[in-house]
Amino acid sequence: MEDNILEVRDLTTSFKVSGGKFKAVDGVSFKLKRGKVLGIVGESGCGKSVTAMSIMRLIEKQNGLIENGEVLFEGINLLDLKELDMNRVRGNEISMIFQEPMISLNPVIKIGNQIGEILKVHRNITGAQNKKRVIEMLKLVGIKREEEIINEYPHQLSGGMCQRVMIAMALCCTPKLLIADEPTTALDVTVQAQVLDLINDIKDKLNMSVIVITHDLGVICEVSDEVMVMYAGNVVEKAPVEEIFDNPIHPYTMGLMNSRPEDFKKGEPLKCIKGKVPKLSELSEGCKFVNRCDYAMDICKRCKPQLKTIKSGHDVSCFKYDLEEEGKL
Ligand code: SF4
Repeated sequence: MEDNILEVRDLTTSFKVSGGKFKAVDGVSFKLKRGKVLGIVGESGCGKSVTAMSIMRLIEKQNGLIENGEVLFEGINLLDLKELDMNRVRGNEISMIFQEPMISLNPVIKIGNQIGEILKVHRNITGAQNKKRVIEMLKLVGIKREEEIINEYPHQLSGGMCQRVMIAMALCCTPKLLIADEPTTALDVTVQAQVLDLINDIKDKLNMSVIVITHDLGVICEVSDEVMVMYAGNVVEKAPVEEIFDNPIHPYTMGLMNSRPEDFKKGEPLKCIKGKVPKLSELSEGCKFVNRCDYAMDICKRCKPQLKTIKSGHDVSCFKYDLEEEGKL
């Protein structure tokens, strides 16, 4: 039997902006198995981070609203929890790390106190025990001079070290699920590799499940077991990592694969997907990729393709694939 730690069903999150209300996440569904890593990939504005913030129930209430769906964490719908109960889940059972470690840490609080506060609030660990655990966590994420670092401020650390501190904060209550939103974007290439190795290593040590959100296919390839490609609030393709790299089906996924800079020689012009992600207010009734797709047909303008399983573990939503399968293309 599948052991899914998380199951998201038909999640829909909207935002009010001048001119109306628009769906940033539009009927997203997926499952995450315990101990596995799901990579969510897509361009900026495709709904990756809004999906994560909806799971954490951190959508800003003034303009945003989770309109529909279920977020089943170990079978419990987080969207039904009272705020107090959700506060216990955040940081304790599910933790999140963000892309800008320098601005996510409090600049006027010492590193040791920032990590220690989480242990105090969620686990009631204080005094010498608190300090001991903070030092253990800093060691776990590979920070040297841990006894000194606890008395330093974020501006005294490099970007890579700040991200390690953020990871230590996220992991100090040994959550069952870690959501990492662009965890390496603000870091230079060598530090990126170290942070990805660290996430992989700690995931195995703690048997944690992880969602990694990124626009970088290199990151996806490095850490994911499964990949979900999002475009304009929809899931367009989902498959195990080797399958999606070997056999991408959706034209958007193919476009992402064909524009990886590492596949081009020095001086060779890079390929990119034509056009840009449409504004939420400009989305068509049909396929949201229609204006950028080289294979667009009439039906794509009128109807929205549905996500279908094409073989075990591989789902795609595209009329081109449907018609090819039916022998009509
Ligand atoms: Fe392109 Fe049509 Fe497939 Fe959309 S449904 S990706 S427009 S072929």
